[in-house]
Amino acid sequence: MADRYLSFTGTAPGRFLTRRLGLPRPAPLRRWSPERPALDGGLLHLTAGASRLDLAPVLARTGPGPDDAGRPAAVVLDATGVRTVEGLDGVHAALHPVVRSVAESGRIVVLGAPLDAADHHQAAAQQALEGFTRSLGKEIGGGRTVNLVRLTDAHAAESTLRFLLSPKSAYVSGQVIAVGDRESPAPEDADRPLAGRTALVTGAARGIGEAVAGTLARDGAEVVVLDVPQAEQDARRVAERIGGSVLLLDMTAADAGARIAGALPGGLDVLVHNAGVTRDRRLVNMPKDRWSSVLEVNLASVLRTTDALLEAGALRRDGRIVATASVAGIAGNAGQTNYGASKAGVTGFVRALAPRALAEHGVTVNAVAPGFIETKMTAAVPLFIREAGRRMNSLAQGGLPVDVAETTAWFAHPGSGAVNGQVVRVCGQSLLGA
Ligand code: NAD
Repeated sequence: MADRYLSFTGTAPGRFLTRRLGLPRPAPLRRWSPERPALDGGLLHLTAGASRLDLAPVLARTGPGPDDAGRPAAVVLDATGVRTVEGLDGVHAALHPVVRSVAESGRIVVLGAPLDAADHHQAAAQQALEGFTRSLGKEIGGGRTVNLVRLTDAHAAESTLRFLLSPKSAYVSGQVIAVGDRESPAPEDADRPLAGRTALVTGAARGIGEAVAGTLARDGAEVVVLDVPQAEQDARRVAERIGGSVLLLDMTAADAGARIAGALPGGLDVLVHNAGVTRDRRLVNMPKDRWSSVLEVNLASVLRTTDALLEAGALRRDGRIVATASVAGIAGNAGQTNYGASKAGVTGFVRALAPRALAEHGVTVNAVAPGFIETKMTAAVPLFIREAGRRMNSLAQGGLPVDVAETTAWFAHPGSGAVNGQVVRVCGQSLLGA
């Protein structure tokens, strides 16, 4: 669905009117394309406090080249060494002089350390970085994003920095991402990191799932497009376009896990639980079947099939599970008690399973939590609520399915073995539940 307001604000009269009336001024976001895969500009590496990270070689491989024009497209502030409130002055000193010069659609990535439970001064200073990051994200404008990564090992965070310092993370802002120190091998072919891997995407016949399937195929994966039998025509169209195969299956079937395992005798590397439904009604008007069907598709089937596939050993070591939560599961949404419950359940599932799945199966488990994404699901929302959903985030626009897909591809990347148990919102820093 076209965002006419966004197109209008890109015109001269649109710019004039929105400035005069104080209306939201969304900037067209710079997304990844094969012709323009990197940000337009250089990288500025700043430090606050005494850091022990070996960051320079990683940034040399991941980010844009050094900024020599005084207008950086990416700024990385290493604040891992900040341990006191006074140390936070270094954050101000580093960013205050440069924030104005960051290019449109630029990236600011703040690096923090894990909170030290034995040192409340360090914990206070490091927690302060979250409020700082989220506040800067809300005020910076111009399609720029601001995120915080907590890490102890720069090399283990390479795939994460590569994602955040690229146009692929255009709609990810205000996020706090924890990266562990587990080493994971760099892929042989950086342009096709999933080459030789098999990915299955549920609900891939349209919308976000279709974009996820296409992006994983771009990254080299053999993709299985799974959807309900009624969506066969669309599923075949998607599979043909991306060179994948089709599996027609209702994920709520009791034996869905066994049927997936049976269809993939060679095993599976990437499992994306994307299929989801809404059946909105206020609780007072919600019959039992609307409640149950949403919990069944969005949550129960995710748990059942994941358990079955892990138990059957169908997910290969170094595998990835990516589930789909929602901002509605974090902030809550009127008329969506069933949906909000199901999506909050997904985050609980991801956080609890992640450490065990990694220890026992070598598989990471993460979730994307989309905000307002332009799909058939959101096109069905009444106009005023749709407009509010689009504008009520720091980027003042809805996201595109590809934004969720790029985030999924980062989780799925072979180099993301240290990213586990994370729930990352793809919401343009939605004002709801931030
Ligand atoms: P969509 O309705 O456009 O597509 C969902 C797909 O899932 C459809 O192809 C459908 O046939 C399939 N599906 C539904 N039930 C299934 C089942 N039982 N078995 C197999 N396939 C099934 O939805 P979308 O907007 O692309 O959303 C995709 C996911 O993202 C969902 O989990 C949704 O809850 C989540 N999400 C979407 C938004 C948004 O703004 N669009 C926001 C937050 C979360």
